[in-house]
Amino acid sequence: MKIAIIDSCDNSYVNEPDLEREVLATKADVELYHVRNTSELPPQVLGYDGLISWHLVPLRAPFINSLRQCRGIVRAAVGFDNIDLQAARERGIVVANVPDYGTEEVADHSLAMALNLLRRLPQGHAVVASGSWDWREVGPLPRLSQLDIGLIGFGRIGMAVAARFKAFGCRVRFYDPYVSSGVEKALGVRRCESLTGLLQGSDLVSIHAPLNEETRHLIGRRELETLKGKYLINTARGPIIDCSALADAVSDHLLAGVALDVFEDEQAAIPMLFLQRNDVLLSPHVAFYSQAALPELRRKAAQVLLSLLEQ
Ligand code: NAD
Repeated sequence: MKIAIIDSCDNSYVNEPDLEREVLATKADVELYHVRNTSELPPQVLGYDGLISWHLVPLRAPFINSLRQCRGIVRAAVGFDNIDLQAARERGIVVANVPDYGTEEVADHSLAMALNLLRRLPQGHAVVASGSWDWREVGPLPRLSQLDIGLIGFGRIGMAVAARFKAFGCRVRFYDPYVSSGVEKALGVRRCESLTGLLQGSDLVSIHAPLNEETRHLIGRRELETLKGKYLINTARGPIIDCSALADAVSDHLLAGVALDVFEDEQAAIPMLFLQRNDVLLSPHVAFYSQAALPELRRKAAQVLLSLLEQ
């Protein structure tokens, strides 16, 4: 069997496919292609049996339709919003993800962002950097254990985030129409039946839902108005928040603080407004990453693909 790993050039998670080769051993040959777009791939890839897809390379319908014998595509990530699932389904190609490699890391990152916003660490740093030790300049700080935390999406990461906030004594609620009832009792959290209810009742909202047609721009102008004076964190996918509505909200100082690990268009320049404000925290889609998570993700992606191709 022949397998291609498709990875973007300037975001090289894989420089040598050594871990993948270890897993696939004698069962498949692995080739690594650093491209930004599938049009840059050599034609022989169209005859490969399986693909491992990394970040930033969209696998759209025309490419998927031109694959001659591909039976499986594995997205080396949780979210597979870069793959045209319908085109794959129509071609009989099974698409799978790697759901459980970085749950702890994303949950930790979300908490790190929350603590930075709530304790106003960037503001504190700026005060000291300006030569002052006047703590009053940092601004009013909330007591964490008095806060209501709202989570949009209550899957693996949402639940891990809930456990962390609960350890700080916070009350946690979630909005997730697809989670079966009973979870809230078992985990000591509250379920909200509507997104508006969640936004109204929370001091800080953290997003942990997948990107799909239902969640694209789930947080727009109206939702941001409801979040007036509150904190917003997104470590899920950028397009879940309408970036231009968020830019207006930031410009109007509508929110108490915003932290984003993901952005609507991560290949375009980030609007200057977001970079100039110390109530906006940004990180470069790194929430999944730790030295342990990356090799785990690579090995699991190869294992998942192998199991698909051996069926
Ligand atoms: P998961 O599938 O375990 O949980 C997602 C939850 O979202 C599910 O319970 C689902 O029911 C819920 N959901 C679906 N549609 C919803 C909607 N319209 N409103 C509210 N909830 C909805 O996935 P996970 O492992 O918890 O990961 C969540 C997301 O985090 C992924 O989809 C991925 O996009 C993102 N992620 C980001 C990074 C990063 O590095 N920043 C890393 C891993 C995952």
